[in-house]
Amino acid sequence: MKPSTLIAPPALVRRAEKHDTKAIQALDSAHFIHPFTDHGDLATRGSRVITHAENIYIWDSEGHKILDAMSGLWCVNAGYGRKELADAGYQQMMTLPFYNSFFQTTNVPAVQLAAKLAQLAPEVGGRKFEHVFFSSSGSESNDTNVRMVRRYWDLLGQPQRKVIISRNNAYHGSTMAGASLGGMSGMHAQGDLPIPDIVHIEQPHHFEHAHPGESQDAFGLRAARWLEEKILSIGADKIAAFIAEPVQGAGGVIIPPATYWPEIQRIVDKHGILLISDEVICAFGRLGHWFAYEKFGYKPDLVTFAKGVTSGYVPLGGVMVGDRVAKVLIEKGGEFNHGYTYSGHPVACAVALANIELLEREGLVARVKDDTGPYLAERFAELNKHPLVVGAESCGFVAGLMLVKNKATQQPFDEGVGVGMRCRAHCFNSGLIMRAVGDRMIIAPPLVMTREQIDEMMALIKRCLDLTESELRLVGELG
Ligand code: PMP
Repeated sequence: MKPSTLIAPPALVRRAEKHDTKAIQALDSAHFIHPFTDHGDLATRGSRVITHAENIYIWDSEGHKILDAMSGLWCVNAGYGRKELADAGYQQMMTLPFYNSFFQTTNVPAVQLAAKLAQLAPEVGGRKFEHVFFSSSGSESNDTNVRMVRRYWDLLGQPQRKVIISRNNAYHGSTMAGASLGGMSGMHAQGDLPIPDIVHIEQPHHFEHAHPGESQDAFGLRAARWLEEKILSIGADKIAAFIAEPVQGAGGVIIPPATYWPEIQRIVDKHGILLISDEVICAFGRLGHWFAYEKFGYKPDLVTFAKGVTSGYVPLGGVMVGDRVAKVLIEKGGEFNHGYTYSGHPVACAVALANIELLEREGLVARVKDDTGPYLAERFAELNKHPLVVGAESCGFVAGLMLVKNKATQQPFDEGVGVGMRCRAHCFNSGLIMRAVGDRMIIAPPLVMTREQIDEMMALIKRCLDLTESELRLVGELG
């Protein structure tokens, strides 16, 4: 890989314009209701205004350059400033900016993308993915999944199979179905969720749920069997599907033990239950594969995708529909009364095609698998030497660690200390985007990140951990 292909040519680097940050912040808090934001807090502190971006860096309106170790929101896989993607969007807007795909109509980019995705999704255990349903987000795609699995069982004469099993601390979106499938207690507490017939089992998080001395492998088997216990307690004939992220993302980058997924596969097969792999974060190279089920070797029936399919340049999501479901829907289903105005949006699909071509041309998926991913794993694990850190580990280009008060006993900080938010503030102030999920600190860098840039990021992370440690000593939270 030539470095020049990784960094945009100078002509593309937009200069920081002068911005009146205070005026933008005032307008922002007066008119813009943000997702997942405390607006009282926003009004007092003002939002950070991001003005432009290049490669793995973003700039704010005050001119600060920040290394974006979260790829926007786990999505800018190809990095910022990629002219090919802007050109593809522009060309498609000038050719056909929109037409719907309802009522037996189609458009060329949507057809080409569906075929390309079918080609990229690997066959496992004789199960193929020849079909795609398009949406504009991960949430919409998971709503589609709920409707699709229930329709599937109805068509097979088993309408009582309605229950979908998910996991606590999972994230599957923010629509009524998405938030219900998710296992975030804070989301369930607002708006009477989950909706009926969605139930949850515990997540495979060794740090939180393992018995003292229990090995990763033994814990992985035990955690998978929570699924079987739930199936048996409800009755297998009532269960429609199990949904899970290959590696939990928003829950804090929780990487399951190696024994987990094979045991889950055994259980869903035994009970004939559909398996939904929510790969909104994990697909398109994030774990070093086009689709993450390949990495873990399980056989999903439906695969949710979004984010990385366009590297976040325009919204696009969808569901890869495996043959088992597609055959029933197509052969027995007649009209499926479901769809979105923007299903198969020509501009989004054209940008996705250009994005996939770029990832292929630059070999970024293979690079994460064979080169930068293993290098990140090696460098990130070094953080386990830090006095505040346990469980620093990565999988492809996602990584997480836990901040603890006492390394030897793994004693956590009191909740009131807000250690994650303290660390995150040091990251912001030091020019690094690293996300806090409770006491876990997580990253998901753009796939274009080079070894040198991994070193640069690791130096920043180390500095921010040191600053957090000093602050905690100062306020008497560390001995
Ligand atoms: N599923 C997973 C695994 C996700 O991580 C997300 C978003 N972070 C979603 C679904 C929802 O996607 P969106 O925000 O595009 O609706």
